[in-house]
Amino acid sequence: MRIGVLAFQGDFARHINAVTGHGAEAVAVRTPEGVERSDAMIIPGGESTTIGMLCERFGLLEVIRDRIAGGMPVFGTCAGAILLAREIVESDQVRFGSLDIGIRRNAYGRQRESFEADIELASGGTFRGVFIRAPKIERVGTGISVLGSLDGNPVLIARDGIWAATFHPELTADRRIHAEFLEYAATVATGV
Ligand code: GLN
Repeated sequence: MRIGVLAFQGDFARHINAVTGHGAEAVAVRTPEGVERSDAMIIPGGESTTIGMLCERFGLLEVIRDRIAGGMPVFGTCAGAILLAREIVESDQVRFGSLDIGIRRNAYGRQRESFEADIELASGGTFRGVFIRAPKIERVGTGISVLGSLDGNPVLIARDGIWAATFHPELTADRRIHAEFLEYAATVATGV
C-alpha cells in the first residue's frame, strides 16, 4: 500500500516517518501523477491557504477531490482538516470540500495559540493532542462519526475513508491514530 503525503508545505516529513514506521510505503506527493499512484493520502498541517493555492497551481485540486469522491481514503490534519471541510467559516479560500463539516480557522485565539491537551477517544482512553493555531469544528454533518473530542467539541472525526483531526498526531510518539487510519486504508486498498 502506498500512502501519498501532500508535500507542498507544512510538516509532511513527520507524517512520512509515521507511515514508514507503521510499515507502509510513504511518498511525498507534488504532482497529479503522484496522487494517481497513491492508495490513500495524508494532507498535513501547515497553512491551509498556501497549501490550497499550491494544489490549484500545480493541478492537484481536482485530482485529489475526484479521488476522494471515488473512495480514496484521506486523512487531513489541522490545515488538512480545513482543506477537507465543505464550509470554512468566514473564508472563501480554495478547498477540497469533501467533508460536510463547518470549521473555523485559528479558533482558540492568541492566548492559546498552541497547547497540548488530552483528547477523549470515543473508543475509550485518551490521546495527547498537540494543537497549533488549531481550527475548531463547529458543525458536523449527518453520517460523520466523532472519534475524539476535547471539552465536548469534536477534534477527530471520520466519515467512511475521510478522516480529519484538528490537532497534530504526527508530532507525538503515539502512533495509534495513524495505525487506525492505515488499517482502514489497507482494507480499501486490498478490497477486503
Ligand atoms: N492556522 C492554520 C490554517 O488556518 C492551520 C494550523 C496548522 O495546520 N497547524 O491553515
